Amino acid sequence: MSLQDYRSFEPIKAKYEIVFIGRSNVGKSTIMRELIGAKVKVGRRPGVTQKPNYYLFNDLLVTDMPGYGFMRGVEQAKQERIKDLIVRYFEDNAGRILCAVQVVDAKAFSEIVDRWDSRREIPIDVELNDFLYDLDLDVVLAVNKMDKIHPEAWDEILDGICERLHMLPPWAQWTDRVAPIVAKKGDTKVLSRILKERLRKAGLERYVNVFS
Ligand code: GDP
Repeated sequence: MSLQDYRSFEPIKAKYEIVFIGRSNVGKSTIMRELIGAKVKVGRRPGVTQKPNYYLFNDLLVTDMPGYGFMRGVEQAKQERIKDLIVRYFEDNAGRILCAVQVVDAKAFSEIVDRWDSRREIPIDVELNDFLYDLDLDVVLAVNKMDKIHPEAWDEILDGICERLHMLPPWAQWTDRVAPIVAKKGDTKVLSRILKERLRKAGLERYVNVFS
């Protein structure tokens, strides 16, 4: 796939949309498999996940974005291009996006953010989060790989993540938008509950079964 191949991501018609976004390797594909399984995928099949995966349920589109930022084995210019396309996609479609699910890795997140901070650079997850808030999107945070965290450290880790992403700790006051999950073990209930709530709130009860 050459850079000229995609000036923008393939547009899919829909009235409502839920978008999943995060760095590569945070477990997005695993989450998608758990949450929506092998349901109707539309659009061209991307060889690697350098284009979005789209799932269409009548008027509701569920979009799985390619990794945001660094992607192993993908040349730098292409990574930058994909980042730009993701940004443009959100800008163009903000009006129909019910919520953006930002996925982070429970263990790596704060470490990476602090490393970037210490270099006086804006961490990619923070930049992405700021951008989603600037667009006035309803951001749901899926904190995946919680199995890597000792149960006694859960609160501390989740507080740390919230603190770095616009949400004053304790995290327990954000249970309507923060979902600690273990996608690999099929434990995505909390995220599914939050998404169903969002659909109900938007009067889209008819789509709650999209997410298991
Ligand atoms: P993506 O690049 O964000 O789509 O990430 P993938 O879904 O391909 O997952 C990246 C790696 O993380 C794989 O090795 C998964 O098995 C692993 N992974 C996904 N979810 C979890 C989880 O809940 N816990 C742990 N420990 N690993 C996970």
